[in-house]
Amino acid sequence: MNRSPLARRTEGFTESVIREMTRLCATHGGINLAQGFPNFPAPALLKDAAKRAIDADINQYAITWGSQSLRNGLATTYADLYGMRVDPETMLTVTCGSTEAMVSTLLAIIDPGDEVVVLEPFYENYGPDAAICGAKPVFVPLRAPDYTFDPDELRAAFTTKTKAIIVNTPNNPSGRVFTRAELELIAALCREHDVIAVTDEIYEHIRYAGEHIPLATLEGMADRTVTISGASKTFSVTGWRVGWIVAAPQLTNGIRKVHDFVTVGAPAPLQEAVAAGLTLGRAYYRELSAHYQVRRDTLFRSLDQAGFKPRLPEGAYYIFCDISGFGAGNDVTFARRLIAEVGVAAVPGSSFFSRPERGKDLIRFTFCKTDELLREAGERLARAREILG
Ligand code: GLN
Repeated sequence: MNRSPLARRTEGFTESVIREMTRLCATHGGINLAQGFPNFPAPALLKDAAKRAIDADINQYAITWGSQSLRNGLATTYADLYGMRVDPETMLTVTCGSTEAMVSTLLAIIDPGDEVVVLEPFYENYGPDAAICGAKPVFVPLRAPDYTFDPDELRAAFTTKTKAIIVNTPNNPSGRVFTRAELELIAALCREHDVIAVTDEIYEHIRYAGEHIPLATLEGMADRTVTISGASKTFSVTGWRVGWIVAAPQLTNGIRKVHDFVTVGAPAPLQEAVAAGLTLGRAYYRELSAHYQVRRDTLFRSLDQAGFKPRLPEGAYYIFCDISGFGAGNDVTFARRLIAEVGVAAVPGSSFFSRPERGKDLIRFTFCKTDELLREAGERLARAREILG
């Protein structure tokens, strides 16, 4: 073919660095602390419910925007936990993971050329997400060591072309849990400029400090916030692909159409299982965070002692580190050497930035792994300076 067989929208795409690190790790037989997926079992209650649903022949399409049981369970959960009034008939869409939730939402609300504010560093999917719908991302830095934004810089990013802002709290990769004051400022700017907030709250139940405040609960925000979350992280079922979107009826109406034509629906029996999981409630969420806190502390200690200058996260299951002290190359070189020579995989910092140089001194480790594996990783990391230096 003389002309490119591919559409221009794919030109900006790079391969997912996170998943590339997973593949590289496998070839070296390393310990994978790159991609954020648990290596421990999902709760028995969910697995049993999934098996029961399959045996009961819930094997055909669910209602396109989600099974009745899951939407009802989610409406109750949002009311109990956050006092949100969510009508399961008009305000909920169940999707193939929060990844699809983000793309379907942006496709439904963005016209080509619209600006979308993205706080940087950001989860790597948001870049391609913006490209898919023709959005122009406008990046606002979260500055180390606190990974908070400068109010004036955020204010300056809002223009007449701004259609949406993506807010991810608890944050991947920094581990920040945004404070009420930070969220209030974002909300005020959204109201002032008539902007939609799209929130990625997938780590809402994995927290060690601070409070999870859905942006939708702030004054005047219920109608202009699209709240995204899912079962992957909360119930350790990243391969099930069950996520969801809460939004006002008018927004939901548009989002459901995109979702319907792109995927038809999320896996029917697994939606039943997640509905069952929601009955576990507060005690389960507390225990989840408590277990993750032990894992966080184990990995943090190892990284600290090994000279990685880790930042202690308040939420999510990642530790962001500063590798400038090693003098062993930039983030990409460092990550490749860490896999090949030390036997531990991490994600190069540049995959969380719009410009690679901004992440050249950073690297991200995940701790959603068993204590045993984290201790073994710690033993390997203790030798990193000697091997890489
Ligand atoms: N969210 C996870 C991470 O940041 C998984 C990424 C992925 O592979 N989709 O590691």
